[in-house]
Amino acid sequence: MYLRYAHGLGRAAAVTTITSPDSRLVKQVTPAALCGVWRSGGAPKVRGWPSITHVVIHTLIGSAATTIRHWHGGQNCLPPHYVIDKNGEITQMVAERYYAQHVGTANTYSIGIEHEGGCYNTPACFSESLYQASAALVRDICERQKIPKDRAHIIGHDEAPGTGHGDPGGYWDWDYYMALLQWDGRTASLKPQRIVLDYNSLFTFPLTANWNEGVRLPVKWGPGHEQSYAAKYYYAEADPVAKEDDAVEYSGAITDSGQWILSAWWPVLRGSNTAALINVATTNRDPAQRSFSGTYDQSARGLMARQTAALYSTHTWMPVHTFTLNTGDGVRISVSRRSSARGRVIADAFRLLKTGSL
Ligand SMILES: [Zn+2]
Repeated sequence: MYLRYAHGLGRAAAVTTITSPDSRLVKQVTPAALCGVWRSGGAPKVRGWPSITHVVIHTLIGSAATTIRHWHGGQNCLPPHYVIDKNGEITQMVAERYYAQHVGTANTYSIGIEHEGGCYNTPACFSESLYQASAALVRDICERQKIPKDRAHIIGHDEAPGTGHGDPGGYWDWDYYMALLQWDGRTASLKPQRIVLDYNSLFTFPLTANWNEGVRLPVKWGPGHEQSYAAKYYYAEADPVAKEDDAVEYSGAITDSGQWILSAWWPVLRGSNTAALINVATTNRDPAQRSFSGTYDQSARGLMARQTAALYSTHTWMPVHTFTLNTGDGVRISVSRRSSARGRVIADAFRLLKTGSL
């Protein structure tokens, strides 16, 4: 790893928003223009320890390189402290001891991180390398600044007091991200893992003619209750006498031994079924870990919603069941058309999460 310095900074004397990186994970230092920080007598105002108590997660629509140039040149005076590009490369623009103007009133006590490749309308925006690099940086910040690694202190821009910004939105996987923050960054057996099963992981083909393809409704500021996780999903009218295996089936393989939390996501729509049957089967040896089934009210908003400062209702994953599984175990999940209740049964997405140390 080497450090690149824009404009030969690092020669101490100049008044700048940063001279040397605060974290060893920083790949590039590019100072933000002075207009992007709080100043006193023309120089950046220094905040004292322990005034830094929070980290704010932002997502950036558009290219990191271009936006970094604008923050550097002063065409934009609202820089974060750090920018992570979609390959996981970290640029620092403002020293942690200065107040970057990234989030409004929370500027006083927070460090801001922008993530490239952000968008509101699909979870595909957030790459694995982005989650890993961001979590490593925030672990490092929290250890140095003595910030607790919990949701009270690691917040989204959409959760900052008084904000109208919706980033990073509901497709940012907070459960996975917080698990990565809790990890020590070293012990492989405790490393959090995530498996998402959706339209792309279907086991049963062809489906019976009773199933129709649904398309995700346009997303404005992060997914609300009516947005699916995947771009496409399936739905079918329920029937009390349908065969139980008239179902959409997903299949996956467990990548590490440990506790796995299965969660579900479906668009909550008017006329959805109030007792949709979900069956889960695994190939684990322990009979207690081999199956689970439950019925769910797919029309209930409350199961999968949370409210933030900026967003009235944001879609979230709903925990279904926790299994103890081994590497290589198969998991099969089915959403059946058989139901005593009327309305559409929806098969969208499931997430298996191994949280490691949590
Ligand atoms: Zn933001």
